[in-house]
Amino acid sequence: MFCPRCGNADQLPETYCRQCGLYLLDFSKPLKRVSPPEEHLKANTVLSVMTIITSFTLSFLLFLILGFRSFTHPLIYVTAGILLAIGGWHIQTLIRTIMLKKQWKRRIPLSETPTAFKSTPTAKLLDQANFADAIPLSVTEHTTRHLSETPQPKR
Ligand SMILES: [Zn+2]
Repeated sequence: MFCPRCGNADQLPETYCRQCGLYLLDFSKPLKRVSPPEEHLKANTVLSVMTIITSFTLSFLLFLILGFRSFTHPLIYVTAGILLAIGGWHIQTLIRTIMLKKQWKRRIPLSETPTAFKSTPTAKLLDQANFADAIPLSVTEHTTRHLSETPQPKR
């Protein structure tokens, strides 16, 4: 295969380019499965809900068990306040995730998009170079010399 960076030919896939050192991916193999955005949205929702419940419960327990006593250290209030802030922050994360989910449902499915926009691996479009048709370097060098020696028509 060819190096996509420097174009060096005749190299094995899944090795490093002999000329520039780029790692050459094997495009004939299917790429690693990437989890779809729906899964990320679902995971985000679950994590946000869990964080909201945990932080609000812990903050409530701190106030209830340790707060408003004669021996209450100010650090208890700071901790409870931070827990409330974390809970609040995750409420807005949850709202954003829900909004994103709605947007995602409204999108045009991939099956309806024109085929031209779908990604096609380059390896399937292009064949390997056929060196049987290659012009030897000596021929091209001669042609260049002949062209430079041939008088050009005056303009
Ligand atoms: Zn290279």
